[in-house]
Amino acid sequence: MKKIQMVDLKGQYQGIKDVVNPSIQEVIETTSFINGPKVHEFQKNLENYLNVKHVIPCANGTDALQIAMMGLGLKPGDEVITADFTFAATVEVIALLNLTPVLVDVNEDDFNINIDAVKRAITPKTKAIVPVHLFGQCANMDAIMEIAKEHNLFVIEDTAQAIGANYTHKDGTKTKIGTIGDVGATSFFPSKNLGCYGDGGAIFTNNDELAHTIRGIVNHGMYVRYHHDVVGVNSRLDSIQAAVLDAKLPNLDTYNKRRREAADKYDKSFKGVSGIETPYRYGAEDNHVFHQYTLKVKGVDRDALAKHLNENGIPCGVYYPIPLHKQKAYVDERYNEEAFIVTNQLVKEVISLPMHTELEDDQIEFITSTVIKFVNE
Ligand SMILES: *Cc1c(COP(=O)(O)O)cnc(C)c1O
Repeated sequence: MKKIQMVDLKGQYQGIKDVVNPSIQEVIETTSFINGPKVHEFQKNLENYLNVKHVIPCANGTDALQIAMMGLGLKPGDEVITADFTFAATVEVIALLNLTPVLVDVNEDDFNINIDAVKRAITPKTKAIVPVHLFGQCANMDAIMEIAKEHNLFVIEDTAQAIGANYTHKDGTKTKIGTIGDVGATSFFPSKNLGCYGDGGAIFTNNDELAHTIRGIVNHGMYVRYHHDVVGVNSRLDSIQAAVLDAKLPNLDTYNKRRREAADKYDKSFKGVSGIETPYRYGAEDNHVFHQYTLKVKGVDRDALAKHLNENGIPCGVYYPIPLHKQKAYVDERYNEEAFIVTNQLVKEVISLPMHTELEDDQIEFITSTVIKFVNE
C-alpha cells in the first residue's frame, strides 16, 4: 500500500505532467508573467465551464471574497450574515472592510448555514448573506435566494470548497454552484478541488455592471490606465498559475467524480457502524464534490481517534475545531451561546479523512478498518 496522504498533489501531477509542463514553459518563454494570454484563456474556459457571463481572476480566495464585497458597494456598519462554522477567511474580510459580521448557526446534517437562523438574524441594517458551500456540499440556495429577494439583500457565495458542484433547484434544473447569487468567490489554493501550484482565486458574476466594477477594483481601481476612479487593490492571478489551472480545468469533473467515488466507498464501509455518522447528502449526487469527507463521531473521543489514526500512518484533520464566534478576533457581546448549539457540538464531533483524486481501494480499506476497530473497542 502506498503511503496515505491527506491530499495527494504529487500523484495527481504525475497524471497531467505532459500537459502542465509545456503550458508553464510557454509562459516562461514568452515572459508574459502578468495578465498574459494564459490568464485570458483560462478566464474564458472557466466562464464556459460554469456557464457564467463573467469570471474575474484574482490572487486568492480571500481576496475574491473581499473584492466581491467591495464591488457590491457594502459600507461600514452594513451587516453581513454568514456561518459560524467555516474557515476564518469568510468572516475576516467582512471585519476587514469594517462591515459588521453576523455569525449564525449551521445545520446539524449538512454543516451549511441554517435558514431559520438567517431569518432571525435579519435587521434593517442587513445588506448581504454569505453562504459557504462547506466541504463541497451546496447550501440551500433556493431558500437563501428567496430570503434575499424578500429582504433586498445581496448574496455572495463562498465557493472555495465546492467548485464544479451542480446545484439542483426545486424545479429540477441545475446551475453550477457559485453562479446563483449576485456574485461567487472561489479559491485555487493547491488543495482545493481545482488547485494551482501557488495562490489563486476568482470571482464570478452574471451582472455586467458589477463585473466591470470588479475588474477595476482588482487593478488599483483603474478603468483607464493611470486614472484611479475608486479605491482598489492589487490582486492578480499569475500567468503561470493560470497555465496550471487551464491544464487542469478539463479534468475537474473527473476529479470531482473520483472524490465522490472515494466518498461512496467510505460510506459503504461505515454503513451501520454505531458511533459514526457519514456525511449527509441531499438532492442529486453531483450536489456534493467532497472537498472534505467529514464524519461525525458520537460517543467516541474524537481527539483520541485522530491521534490513533496518525499513529497508524493515517493523516486526518479537524475542520474546524473552534466556532468563529469564539475566536478572539470575532467575539462579540451580541452573541449568545444558545444561538450556536449546533456549531458548538460539531466542533467536538467532526473529523475529516483523507480525500483526494488518487485514493486507492487498499488505502480506503485500511483507513475505514482502522477507524471502525477504534470505534468498536
Ligand atoms: C480556502 C478557503 C478560503 C480562502 O481561500 P484562499 O485562497 O486560501 O485565500 C475562503 N473560504 C473558504 C470556505 C475556504 O475553504
